[in-house]
Amino acid sequence: MLIGIPKEIKNHEYRIGMTPAGVRELIENGHEVIVQRDGGTSIGLTNDQYEAAGAKLIDTPEEIFASADMIIKVKEPQPNECKMLRPGQLLFTYLHLAPDPDPEQTKLLVESDCVAVAYETVTDANRGLPLLAPMSEVAGRMAIQAGAHALEKAQGGLGVLLGGVPGVAPAKVTVIGGGVVGINAARMAMGLGADVTILDRSLPRLKELDAQYGPQLKTLYSSAESVEQEVINSDLVVGAVLIPGAAAPKLVTRAMLGKMKNGSVLVDVAIDQGGCFETSKATTHQEPTYEVDGVVHYCVANMPGGVARTSTFALTNATLPFALALANKGYKKALKDDAHLRNGLNVHRGTINFEAVANDLGYEY
Ligand code: NAD
Repeated sequence: MLIGIPKEIKNHEYRIGMTPAGVRELIENGHEVIVQRDGGTSIGLTNDQYEAAGAKLIDTPEEIFASADMIIKVKEPQPNECKMLRPGQLLFTYLHLAPDPDPEQTKLLVESDCVAVAYETVTDANRGLPLLAPMSEVAGRMAIQAGAHALEKAQGGLGVLLGGVPGVAPAKVTVIGGGVVGINAARMAMGLGADVTILDRSLPRLKELDAQYGPQLKTLYSSAESVEQEVINSDLVVGAVLIPGAAAPKLVTRAMLGKMKNGSVLVDVAIDQGGCFETSKATTHQEPTYEVDGVVHYCVANMPGGVARTSTFALTNATLPFALALANKGYKKALKDDAHLRNGLNVHRGTINFEAVANDLGYEY
């Protein structure tokens, strides 16, 4: 199969669909890979590395879209890219058609008659989302890095070091939501020596975390009362809740901010689902923070983009086995053989293969 990897064109997107190591695996499985020249240069993945892995460098996206059997990307295709997709061409990427479908993007995708398998709806045997998880790991770990920076005085923070020093107490960090983002944030905060509490609505999850981390990690059942008590006493609060298919619940109210210390920090990782703090509004890496009632808010909607190199490696690790299955077997057999990969099928035969989006936008399902 001829596999094409174009350079990402969405604003400030520096990730690329596959690392040189991933390209080499595809080639060793008997496929040909074409990569857009300079597609990974800005994150240190050079043209030479792609060539050494066996890829052929191509100058324009037009040439890639016109010839590849499968396109591997990171972000949803932009209008220009949708127009280059061909009937029957396989597209493997994040699409994010739900929960907030973009009718224009959806229409262009459907009209292209491509076969689109979306990373975010591929599932695994533990009811997880294996191609979303790596980005949650990145965002969770980054939440503490971003929060620690925002706590510095010059950034508007309280002027607190997360780990304290001998003779000075560490900062108090509260993580709301103990899923993939939450535990990765908690691990980073514990690693820096902070005093960490994690809240979740799921008792089985709290038991799992307790068994795994012992007394170094305090676990609390999440209720309006426990959230308020923890939040008002914290230096740094990370919002990491998810209710699948729904907007994030507003767990931290504006009234609570007034009871927090001036210069304490909220990092709302759940901002891509609307945010779990009442006062959250999406920000960008260019201007990541703002202040409400003396509390610094960090609400970057695409946190993994800030560490695009790490994110590209993490994404390739997760997508490669599925990309290989699609390429080695052809999409029909690969989807037939693997119900989890089949859950990724979003666009097929000129319609939406994803019930919620199809119903929402009035497509046949
Ligand atoms: P997850 O499903 O692994 O974990 C979510 C956890 O939230 C679950 O354990 C669930 O029990 C818990 N939860 C639900 N309601 C709760 C409540 N009221 N109180 C406390 N806990 C509650 O999800 P995840 O992968 O960790 O993702 C978390 C959020 O981070 C999602 O909204 C996701 O979209 C977002 N995210 C954002 C970025 C970004 O760049 N901003 C990147 C990756 C993920």
